Amino acid sequence: MEAIGAQEISMPILHPAEVWQKTGRWYEIKDEMFRLKDRTDRDMCLGMTHEEIMTWLASREIRSYRHLPQIWYQIQTKLRDEARPKSGVLRTREFIMKDSYSFDMDEQGLEENYHLHAKAYHRIFERCGLAFYQVESDPGMMGGATAHEFMAPSPAGEDYVIICKSCGYTANIEVASSVSPAIEFSDCRLEEIHTPGKKTVKEVSYFMNIKPHYFIKSLLFITDKEPVLALLRGDQELHEKKLLKIIGNFRQATKDEIISTLGVEPGFIGPIGHKIQILGDLSLKEGSYITGANKPDYHIKGVMPNVHFNAEWHDLHVAKEGEQCSKCNSLIRIEKAIEIGNIFKLGTKYSMPLNAVFLDKEGQERHIIMGSYGIGPARIAAAAIEQNYDKDGIIWPKNIAPFDLEIIPLSVNDKKTMEVLEILSGGLTEKGIEVIIDDRDERPGVKFKDADLIGVPVQVVLGEKSLKDNQIEIKSRRTKETKKVPVDNAIEEIIAFFRQSE
Ligand SMILES: [Zn+2]
Repeated sequence: MEAIGAQEISMPILHPAEVWQKTGRWYEIKDEMFRLKDRTDRDMCLGMTHEEIMTWLASREIRSYRHLPQIWYQIQTKLRDEARPKSGVLRTREFIMKDSYSFDMDEQGLEENYHLHAKAYHRIFERCGLAFYQVESDPGMMGGATAHEFMAPSPAGEDYVIICKSCGYTANIEVASSVSPAIEFSDCRLEEIHTPGKKTVKEVSYFMNIKPHYFIKSLLFITDKEPVLALLRGDQELHEKKLLKIIGNFRQATKDEIISTLGVEPGFIGPIGHKIQILGDLSLKEGSYITGANKPDYHIKGVMPNVHFNAEWHDLHVAKEGEQCSKCNSLIRIEKAIEIGNIFKLGTKYSMPLNAVFLDKEGQERHIIMGSYGIGPARIAAAAIEQNYDKDGIIWPKNIAPFDLEIIPLSVNDKKTMEVLEILSGGLTEKGIEVIIDDRDERPGVKFKDADLIGVPVQVVLGEKSLKDNQIEIKSRRTKETKKVPVDNAIEEIIAFFRQSE
C-alpha cells in the first residue's frame, strides 16, 4: 500500500448514525448493521465499512486541489451481523479488513488510483501464494458504477465465477452475462394443447415429451408501478438482480394478483394478449415456443415472439455451464471461488451527501471523486488453506506461514538433543528465521502428525540416534523431500533448504 503512495491511518469502530443517515445507508442496510444507543440516547453503529467516516474526514482535511490526490488505508476490525456466520474464517461477524480509500479531483485521477490498487492487489495476492483472478462484480451496497472482485478458486467458496478461457472474460455470476445455446425449431403452427393439471415447465415438458428449452416460462411480478410479466426460456432461471436493475423493487405476484391481472390462474400464463409491460430474455427473441394458453388446463405451441406478442428484450437469466461467452461465443466455465478482495469506483456517491468538496484551479467548488478498496486478510488465510493442503493437513505458502520452520526434538529428556536445539533455535532466530519448537514430552508419531497438520513449510527433526552420528534431518512439508545434514553447519544448510523450498 505504501508503494502506491497510501498513508496508514486508524479510524474509529464506533460511528455516529448521522453520517450513515446522510448517505442513506442507515436505512438501506438492514439487519447486517450492529446498531446501538449511547447514554444520551443517540443512535450509533459499529463500522461494517468506512466510506462514511473516511469521507467525513476528507470533508474536513481536504480544501484545495493541491491536497489531491490522496490514498488513506487502515487494517482494522469490522463488524457485520451476518445472517449465517460460519465456524471457519470465511464468514464471521467480527473480522479484520485492509480497507483503502482514494480521493481525486477528476475521473482520470480515479481511473489511475483504481488501476494502482488493482496492480497492488495483484502483487499482494501473488506474494501470498494464491491462485486468483480479477472479475467484474456487482457494486452492491457500495454503490458506484464499476467494481471488480479478486477471487481465489476453491470448492469451499461461496461465490460462482464465470470464466471464458478464449477471450479472458471473467465475472461474478451476480453480473455475468452469457448466451444460451441456440435451439432448432421445426413446428411453427399455432395450436392449443390440452395439458390437464400440468403447470410447471417440468410437468408439461415431461407430459409432452419435449425438452424444457422449447418452453417460455412466464412470471408475473408486482413493482412499485405497474405489474410486469417476465419471460424466460424453460431451461433458464431468473436473475433477480438483473431484473431489479430494469424494473426496480419487485416481488412475485400472488395467485389472486395473477388472476386479477392476467385473468388466468398460475401455471397456464402465456405472453399473448396482455396489455402490461413484458420483458423477455434475449434468447427468446427468435423461434417458436410452447407456453401457457391463458386458459386453465391448456398450453399453446408455435408461439413466435415479435409475431404473436411483443416484448422488450434483456438479459434476464442466470449464466450456467454449457452456455456461451457473451463477448466471443466460446463455451464458458463456472467455478466456485472465495472472494479475497474488491475494488469500487464510488465517484461522488459519498462526497455529495457528506459535502466533501475542494476548490479547483479556477476557485470553483467541486465534489471529491472517490474509490474504495478492500482486502480480507482472514479470507486470504482461508483461501490459502483451501488451495494448499493434503490429507495430513495445511501446507502454508511460505510468505504467509505463521512460522518459517518447526524444530521437532524427538526426546526432550536427552541432554545432547536439547543442547543442539538451543544452538539451532538461537542461531536461526538470529538470522531472521521464525521458529516454532515442539518441546512437548510426546511420542514422535504425535509430533510428526501435528507438524504436518499445522503445516509450517520446513520441519527440522532432532533424533537421538541421528545426533549420535552428528546428523539432523530437514523435511519439506510440501514436497516431503528430506535431507540429512551434519550438525556443525546445520544452520546454513537449514536456511538454504528453507530458501529453496516451495
Ligand atoms: Zn469469451
